[in-house]
Amino acid sequence: MSFVITPPDRTALPVAGTNKLFPVRRVYCIGRNYAAHAIEMGHDPNREPPFFFCKPADALRHIDSNKLTAIPYPPKTSNLHYEVEMVVAIGKGGVNIPENEAMEYVYGYAVGLDLTRRDRQQEMKDLARPWELGKAFDASAPISTVVTADSVGAINNFRITLEQNGELKQSGNTNQMIWSVSGAISYLSEYFRLEAGDLIFTGTPDGVGPAVAGDILKASLQDVGSFSIKLI
Ligand code: MN
Repeated sequence: MSFVITPPDRTALPVAGTNKLFPVRRVYCIGRNYAAHAIEMGHDPNREPPFFFCKPADALRHIDSNKLTAIPYPPKTSNLHYEVEMVVAIGKGGVNIPENEAMEYVYGYAVGLDLTRRDRQQEMKDLARPWELGKAFDASAPISTVVTADSVGAINNFRITLEQNGELKQSGNTNQMIWSVSGAISYLSEYFRLEAGDLIFTGTPDGVGPAVAGDILKASLQDVGSFSIKLI
């Protein structure tokens, strides 16, 4: 049987050191996984543990590390925020994954931006409604090339930064994550069957803030990569 319309393209990310692609299935995101960011957003990390939301896979935009790439400033916001995050690429499927086995499910890592319409997100929070208008818009997830897990060191101690027009705005370390990578995989796998191709954005350190058209945002994760976008 043929399709009645042209099937949409599958989102895929290049893998460093290969000429192959990592095909993306789902994009899970952790909210408030760094205590200092939870506090800057007005929450008590001791009272409210991290949680998950999703972005559509086609919201990803792969950014080459050596090419400043234009990303559109999205409509319907006047308060677009950057959030730099470590991204975990899942390499095999499973449910109820024990934390001490979770790293076997990791294919690799990337660095990404969880771009957020903060004004729309705050309205949805106030109304106790879902966050899609704030989080799931087109091109809301610029992301680097994937590096394989065996090509990087101990990911629980990586410096993660965001520069806005050359000025350091976010500076954290993955050792500040409330849910570790293995903890997040284990927790998530109790609620969803994880599959090869899933990505997990693991939350942002503190220092988030607004960006405007014309800004250059540089996202970096130690040993994994960096990229720059220009908002237009
Ligand atoms: Mn985020």
